[in-house]
Amino acid sequence: MHSEIGSDSQPGTLAQRATAMLNRFYGYSTFRPLQLDIITTAMEGRDSVVLMPTGGGKSICYQMPALLSDGVVIVVSPLIALMKDQVVALTSNGIPAAAVNSMQTDEENRDILAQLFSGRIRVLYISPERLLMEIDRWSRDMNIALVAIDEAHCISQWGHDFRPGYTQLRRIKEIYPHVPVMALTATADRLTREDIARQLALVDPRLFIGSFDRPNISLKVMTNPGKTQRLNYIGAIIDRYRNDSGIVYCISRKGAEDMDRQLRMRGYRSTVYHAGLSVTERNRAQDRFINGDVQVVCATVAFGMGIDKSNIRWVVHNNMPRNIESYYQEIGRAGRDGAAAEAVMFYSYGDIMTLRSFVDESGQQALNSEKLARMKDYAEASLCRRRILLSYFNETMDHDCGNCDVCLNPPERIDGTVPVLKALSAIVRVNGGAGITMLIDILRGMSRQEITQRGYDRIKTFGAGRDMSFGEWNSYISQMIQLGLIDIAYDDYNHLRITPYGRQILNERREVLLAKYEPLESRRSTRRQHKEDEKPALSPAEMLLESLKAVREKIARKEQVPPYIVFTDKALLEMVRIEPLDMESFAGVEGVGERKTVKYWRPFVTAIRKFKGITDKFGPGLSVDETLLLLNAGYDVDAIAEAKGIKSSTVYSHLVELINADKLTDFSTIITREQYLRVMEVVKAHPDTYYEILSTEMPVGLPRVAVAISDFLMRRKADHR
Ligand code: ADP
Ligand code: ZN
Repeated sequence: MHSEIGSDSQPGTLAQRATAMLNRFYGYSTFRPLQLDIITTAMEGRDSVVLMPTGGGKSICYQMPALLSDGVVIVVSPLIALMKDQVVALTSNGIPAAAVNSMQTDEENRDILAQLFSGRIRVLYISPERLLMEIDRWSRDMNIALVAIDEAHCISQWGHDFRPGYTQLRRIKEIYPHVPVMALTATADRLTREDIARQLALVDPRLFIGSFDRPNISLKVMTNPGKTQRLNYIGAIIDRYRNDSGIVYCISRKGAEDMDRQLRMRGYRSTVYHAGLSVTERNRAQDRFINGDVQVVCATVAFGMGIDKSNIRWVVHNNMPRNIESYYQEIGRAGRDGAAAEAVMFYSYGDIMTLRSFVDESGQQALNSEKLARMKDYAEASLCRRRILLSYFNETMDHDCGNCDVCLNPPERIDGTVPVLKALSAIVRVNGGAGITMLIDILRGMSRQEITQRGYDRIKTFGAGRDMSFGEWNSYISQMIQLGLIDIAYDDYNHLRITPYGRQILNERREVLLAKYEPLESRRSTRRQHKEDEKPALSPAEMLLESLKAVREKIARKEQVPPYIVFTDKALLEMVRIEPLDMESFAGVEGVGERKTVKYWRPFVTAIRKFKGITDKFGPGLSVDETLLLLNAGYDVDAIAEAKGIKSSTVYSHLVELINADKLTDFSTIITREQYLRVMEVVKAHPDTYYEILSTEMPVGLPRVAVAISDFLMRRKADHR
């Protein structure tokens, strides 16, 4: 039958069938790299370890075996909050799924397990603790296609997020030695990887390492922005994505609360999330974020695990994170749908001091200190930032990305020898007694008390840099730090020290190239202009996108699901690009599967038609292929007639056409065996009037369908001879 999942009888290679399923259930036309290999490996019954970044497309890898076989897929995940989302996403695509966890009553859980055993649920999410409680009671010959272990790094003491609940999961292989196990994670170094395989007792697992590149996320770093500048910047991003949402990560709870307050004072819909809040408060914040009630959540790193919201459009780091792994995971929460997203980091030297103290308190000082240094390199980079990130994950990229601030705005170089020598000589003369601010004030000849008291106003370079602004000096000194000419003594009040390399430059008066300073004023004035113009005018495409978002919003509210469950931003963008004007072309949009076509084509296509000024109504009947689509999605004749607003008899005539064209080959939902035989009987006796004779016994139109079926069967017989 058409709408049945997992019938193994369909023809074609595994790759063909998998692609067909991808299209029907998810609405995607092609697999991403590795996905098909991973699925094939599972279908061959082999274990695997899968490393892919957040948003890389892991879910489809473990869900697909449920669609390609008669077995069920068990997904072990520690993220209970995420389960609900995944289940809703699956069911909205027409794949029966459920979760068993501690947030539901025993009765609910028991009921779900019963449905699992009977094969009615095809994908089950379960927490590791719960699985271990249950698994011994399960039948050993339950038809399990795959056990997927999500967030598999949690199994390893080496990983950064060890969960004791994971350590006993080798029971799975003990009880079901022939069921393939797929371990998935977004972060795992080699040690962790090997540990995962060992702890789960995987047998000769295949290792898949996906690319960590997320080209749709633009990267930007702002060095030493002031408080107002930060707020202005975040405000501008929120304005740019008025109807979407983002995250501001802060280093401390207090920082997160401050930011939240400031943003609310400016009229933005913001909330706060950190580990100091009660569970109820945290859940509420998370729910408001997922449902789109707030535009921004100001959070500490505690936020994000288990957020599967695909339309997070931006992530701002108000402070630098402690290592690149964390940074990458946090920015990876943006743009999971593949549409453009922004990651911006505010970087200040003050952060370094705080992070240093974290490192000193940590268990593995040497390692963490090295990781912090690499993070700092990223922040201070003057070459393509994506190349730096990927090289950190041992992935080489042979070209600049074109989507980071360095690529987009390659710094113009100037001869900076004179200011560099002035600064270096001043540092030597104050004998490492000044931090950045004081050094600049000395160079600019500010005779404030602190300076005169220490006699710094009497050194030779006092006032030698009057010709340049504070901002200009700030930029050049930052660059000197990046170039390794000077160093910040984080253990000594952030005072500046000259490095051996800097001393060499100073002694040999060598030429130094610096990136030209771009005054903040010019940048700020363009921004202010934007503000004054009120909202920037929307392009036609943006206007259409806005109206499609409104349609989505309405449906989401009615169905009480988050908007991105209805369609991802990426799918809406595709609609804007393709402008489908009927159900068929709507079905062809990337990201629109069968179930969603049937459910949603009308409101979206109507909005697009309205936008394009097409006023004529959908003609009656429309195309025969639409009928086929609905039929395949499990609609019966009456439901099709109702959905399309046409008569049942018209639907029957479509069916005749489809059967004659060999497009419809399964008739079980259209006609019963008894009805078919009855028609054949009457046709034989009254070939010219059977139609009228039968009109009182069965729906008008059905007899013709029976005849078409009969012809079809004859054709097929002939073929087989
Ligand atoms: P992960 O679990 O690795 O974090 P997901 O499985 O949630 O990532 O996938 C991220 C996004 O990419 C989802 O919106 C998903 O629908 C989409 N996606 C996955 N595979 C494909 C594909 N083959 N083509 C297009 N989009 C895809
Ligand atoms: Zn770049």
